[in-house]
Amino acid sequence: MTYIVTRLCREKTDTSCVTVCPVDCFYVPKEVSDKLPNQLYISAAECIDCGACEPECPWEAIFEGDAVPDLFKEEDYPLNLLSDDDRDSFETATNSEKPRPSTDEIAANKKTWGM
Ligand code: SF4
Ligand code: SF4
Repeated sequence: MTYIVTRLCREKTDTSCVTVCPVDCFYVPKEVSDKLPNQLYISAAECIDCGACEPECPWEAIFEGDAVPDLFKEEDYPLNLLSDDDRDSFETATNSEKPRPSTDEIAANKKTWGM
């Protein structure tokens, strides 16, 4: 099962993951909406499961498919699949560096999403 980006990325989008992906399979919505929230998406069709992105994500938002927390699995896995199924609504993510979060900020973000 491929890697996915969970909602822990919402409104973060620092793109640390993008810089290490060897196949450029991270996508962002062309227009953010309730259906396509502001986060990164991994194309399951293109991801080669190398795992390089997971440790690079400062918000700890990326998981291998089988390791996605139950809390996120039902919604976030199909959400990532939209980057394949509705490709016209997406564009390839580009690097836009942001400051790295503190340990407290990472914990607070997880708490926001019920972790
Ligand atoms: S590194 Fe993590 S939080 Fe940052 S854009 Fe990528 S998936 Fe989102
Ligand atoms: S696992 Fe590898 S190929 Fe897949 S999104 Fe992460 S860096 Fe890219």
